[in-house]
Amino acid sequence: TVRVRFAPSPTGMLHIGGLRTALFNYLFAKGHPGGVFVLRIEDTDRSRYVEEAEEDIVNSLVWAGMDFDEGPGKPGKFGPYRQSERKDIYEDYAEQLVEQGNAYYAFDTTEELDQMRERLQKSGNPSPKYDAITRMSMKNSLTLPQEEVERKLEEGEEYVIRLKVPRRETIRFEDEIRGFVSFESKGLDDQVLLKSDGMPTYHLANVVDDHLMEITHVIRGEEWLSSAPKHILMYEYFGWEPPKMAHLPLIMSPSGGKLSKRKAETEGIPINTRDYIEQKFEPEALVNFLAYLGWSPGDDSEIHSLEELTEMFSLDRVSKGGAVFDYKKLIWYNEHYLREKPAEQLYPKIRTIAEEHGITPDKAYMLEIIPLMKERVSKIEDFITQGKFFFEDPEEYEEQAKKKWKDDSAELLEAYLEKLEDIDDKYFKADTLKSNLKEVIDAHDVGFGKLMMPLRIATTGMGHGPDLFPSLELLGKETTIRRIQRAVE
Ligand code: GLU
Repeated sequence: TVRVRFAPSPTGMLHIGGLRTALFNYLFAKGHPGGVFVLRIEDTDRSRYVEEAEEDIVNSLVWAGMDFDEGPGKPGKFGPYRQSERKDIYEDYAEQLVEQGNAYYAFDTTEELDQMRERLQKSGNPSPKYDAITRMSMKNSLTLPQEEVERKLEEGEEYVIRLKVPRRETIRFEDEIRGFVSFESKGLDDQVLLKSDGMPTYHLANVVDDHLMEITHVIRGEEWLSSAPKHILMYEYFGWEPPKMAHLPLIMSPSGGKLSKRKAETEGIPINTRDYIEQKFEPEALVNFLAYLGWSPGDDSEIHSLEELTEMFSLDRVSKGGAVFDYKKLIWYNEHYLREKPAEQLYPKIRTIAEEHGITPDKAYMLEIIPLMKERVSKIEDFITQGKFFFEDPEEYEEQAKKKWKDDSAELLEAYLEKLEDIDDKYFKADTLKSNLKEVIDAHDVGFGKLMMPLRIATTGMGHGPDLFPSLELLGKETTIRRIQRAVE
């Protein structure tokens, strides 16, 4: 069976790119019979740990409809699923590699490491790797002699355990998306596996857990591709079969370059999943949009539910090149899903938003407003921000709209008002309102817009909005007349 994991480090709020990684893992798992989606919290770097991050990750996944099968709070035979709770597991594995000669103790102090970096930088190396002096000082043994290691350990010197990367080897593996990739080992650092406080680094914990949790496919962002050869080496040294690997394309900003936090900010793109939740995006819209961020089904269909996507998804249709985050397209998806949902389903959310705006809508009334507004809203809050006039007389008229108020506007409105006053309450319907308007413009020999626009401004405060006559019907005779009277005063 397929077992995949989403393995975020809880260092901050879940980034939208992280949610895309989770989604591709989810789709892949659910597209295989019995496939399992694991959430593993990689919290071994305590200096970057953020308390609320795990909750944010879980909330985000659940909100998006991608609940995990195994993970924190869900017992499973591979738990615990927080690496900080698995601390004791990793050390033995690091020691195993030392015993096998595939890793070694390194006793460099922070100062020594700083000096090393400085020295290498001075000699023209802009991003120096660890120079493994402790390894190289002993010509061919490649590590400190055993006695020296033991003496240092006895003296209580601090040490880390480093991976002994071979000097001249080509490390090759097949990526499910990129095909064969190869790395020269001389370009790799002797990665620290176990830190001096006994905590594993990401690399050790990640490989050990993927193995112990029987992960079959590692699906993660392209930024981890350069770590993969180190992981492949470790699998080899442990004698474990590596999982299949798939590195997802970077998410690019519309103006080019990686969509970084800062870039997103300047381009007005919310970067955290939480922002989308707070702005009340439809989860289906975000999911549908993210699925197409680096993947496509190969036809020109665009609208698919999470369930459909699980049936369609495959790694071989994931692109290698960067995927541009087109925010407008996301809005388009959101509009689509808002239109598709029945008013009843939208109502509870709209009600909450209304209450935030100090409005308590009557349900039956709101259910009539929703279909009228649906075609024009991009986000759910637009139902209230653009539909405020359904609840309150306009306090002021939009600047843009005022410009459309002409010399004859008041006169035409007054003529229309007279007609409205004669209508019986129960005939105050869109059709009647429309034919009355027709009579007035015919009598004055002016175009439709001459009366339509001032009528809209007077009753809604805006120069644009939903179909006017049905809206006035909903507002009712009394309110419509009151608003017109106020406008012509
Ligand atoms: N903890 C890593 C992260 O924060 C996981 C990378 C991986 O999936 O191997 O993204």
